Amino acid sequence: MSPCTRWLLVTGVRTATGCFVVPMATGMSLTLCFLTLRHKRPKAKYILWPRIDQKSCFKSMITAGFEPVVIENVLEGDELRTDLNAVKSRILELGAENILCVHSTTSCFAPRVPDRLEGLAEICAKYDIPHIVNNAYGVQSSKCMHLIQQGARRGRIDAFVQSLDKNFMVPVGGAVVAGFDDSFLEEISKMYPGRASASPSLDVLITLLSLGASGYKNLLTERKASIYHACKELFAYLANELKTLAAKHNERLLDTPQNPISLAMSLKNMNDKGTSAITQLGSMLFTRQVSGARVVPLGTSQTVSGHVFKGFMSHSNDYPCAYLNAASAIGIKKQDIDLFIKRLDKCLRQCRKEKPVEVVASGAPPTTDEEITELTKDLTASLHVEAEDLD
Ligand SMILES: *Cc1c(COP(=O)(O)O)cnc(C)c1O
Repeated sequence: MSPCTRWLLVTGVRTATGCFVVPMATGMSLTLCFLTLRHKRPKAKYILWPRIDQKSCFKSMITAGFEPVVIENVLEGDELRTDLNAVKSRILELGAENILCVHSTTSCFAPRVPDRLEGLAEICAKYDIPHIVNNAYGVQSSKCMHLIQQGARRGRIDAFVQSLDKNFMVPVGGAVVAGFDDSFLEEISKMYPGRASASPSLDVLITLLSLGASGYKNLLTERKASIYHACKELFAYLANELKTLAAKHNERLLDTPQNPISLAMSLKNMNDKGTSAITQLGSMLFTRQVSGARVVPLGTSQTVSGHVFKGFMSHSNDYPCAYLNAASAIGIKKQDIDLFIKRLDKCLRQCRKEKPVEVVASGAPPTTDEEITELTKDLTASLHVEAEDLD
């Protein structure tokens, strides 16, 4: 059994037949999948895409020369979910043969949740439309992998793509393309305009697999010891801590049980003070190195490859409130979460006290090397003090 196939078995997608490593990031690997499908569906112009506000996946369709048909998500409670009815009606309207594929997503920031893969896969089977799944950082979640397995069992999934660096903590741009049909996978790998195969990335994968072999065995035989289980427990811990923190600041943890990777906490009160307070919190989190947090304000429009996204970052034209995202990445420890909560608490308190400052800069921006060195020193010093009085 090849390392790749063994890896698939272990991650829970038991019916997948194979996979291969591409020495390109996830977005470009998705492009490669679309270009492969193009030969099979010469009439197709469109790709149906349940909205996810991440630029690479949008650009992957544009780069391949297709027109993305954005399917807006529906709000169910706090969660943003796939609008299956909209997908169906767009297929009827555009004609199945004019659609290259459905391009769905598993791993995403809350309050969006993984797409309804079973439903989408069933629709794809019914209308004979290919289905490509963006599973960028979904390997670390057994739930995402299970969704893919179920989708393929109940309907149609042609390929699913995951990032090497996001899932295995390796500093290389690479992706794993996996699927349920060997001949289609072979066609994709042949599309790659490079020498025979991606041997450097394959080396990385094989190394990882041999390093992690005992961990993977644990997963199979003794679930408690697996890193995946630890991940789940820490995620629950983070959710609990964030819930307490939210209550303390008169906010709430958004109820997004279907998202196994990411959490969101409302920033309603801060938003009432104006968008600049939210932006200020964002930059405060950044300079204080509260990594793993990102702030999503309301009403930001952004144009990506000529398409205007209203409410960009929030996966929705008008999500009801501004919020803050938090995620527990693979390899995170309990102490990291504690420090994260402590720092976040401090930033939130400070933001509540301060009046939002509209214009921070006075005078010209630094230009000389000396000025920049001075500024960097200041910043480093303040970060240092920050870390000291927290630890
Ligand atoms: C990371 C990511 C991608 C791909 O980004 P690349 O830079 O192409 O690796 C696509 N979609 C989602 C949801 C992602 O998180």
